[in-house]
Amino acid sequence: MIATLPVGLSRNGQILTQVDVAVPTGAMLRQTRDNFLSNKRRQLYLDLAKAAITKIDGLGTPTESDILSMYMVDVEFVYYTLALLDCAGKKPELSHTCPHCGNVFKREYDLEKVRVARLGDEGFDTPFDNPERAAPFVLSKPVTGIDADDLDRGYTRGKVGLMSFGDWLDITCPKKTEIRGIGTVQSESLVRGIIELGPDWRNTGRVAVLDKMPTCDIKTIEKVYNGERPGVKPDTEVECPRCERTFDVFGFDWVTDFFVSSAV
Ligand SMILES: [Zn+2]
Repeated sequence: MIATLPVGLSRNGQILTQVDVAVPTGAMLRQTRDNFLSNKRRQLYLDLAKAAITKIDGLGTPTESDILSMYMVDVEFVYYTLALLDCAGKKPELSHTCPHCGNVFKREYDLEKVRVARLGDEGFDTPFDNPERAAPFVLSKPVTGIDADDLDRGYTRGKVGLMSFGDWLDITCPKKTEIRGIGTVQSESLVRGIIELGPDWRNTGRVAVLDKMPTCDIKTIEKVYNGERPGVKPDTEVECPRCERTFDVFGFDWVTDFFVSSAV
């Protein structure tokens, strides 16, 4: 199936957005479940992306490094497309636990109605319409100490961009076995997402800088980073059928929530 990526790859001044996504087969499911059950998270996502993206228009068959250089939002769109092909018109169900009353219930999802925001769509063309794919943010308190030669000067303006699939794998599925909290993973993701915060940010950007920031400024950057990016935008607000209160499920993992499981 030919699919149009929400952002696309930059190659020689061209933006390549057309990809061929393979119809998921039993072999693809077996490999993905093998990786899932043996907890090979990096292989789980990488192997599935390699098996799914059979051609990039203008590049041909992609190499592993082509796939690692894709934007994470584009690879996530490919995973969503696989789940869509997999459910073939059916509406998969996911289990949720209500954080207010503890009720465990199933909710149906119509994947065909999930919104996909693309570059150039209303609301996204302004911040992401430049070569850096960046959106600006302004902090309440200047960040200092980033530039070693200019410690007294602070920076309040920066830009947040889109993370590559390779960066995302490095952060969320590190090669070495290490256990890190979700807060640390979120901070590391944000560090990779910020592409400008003072002139030396690219060389020195690190979690320690964020750790010194007021929490309201962290949340300002997160809001721009998560809210304004193109890509698959599912409705993550769920209403509990028992107490009728709502809660947020913070997005989906199209691979583990839908593709690996029998939800579809
Ligand atoms: Zn409830």
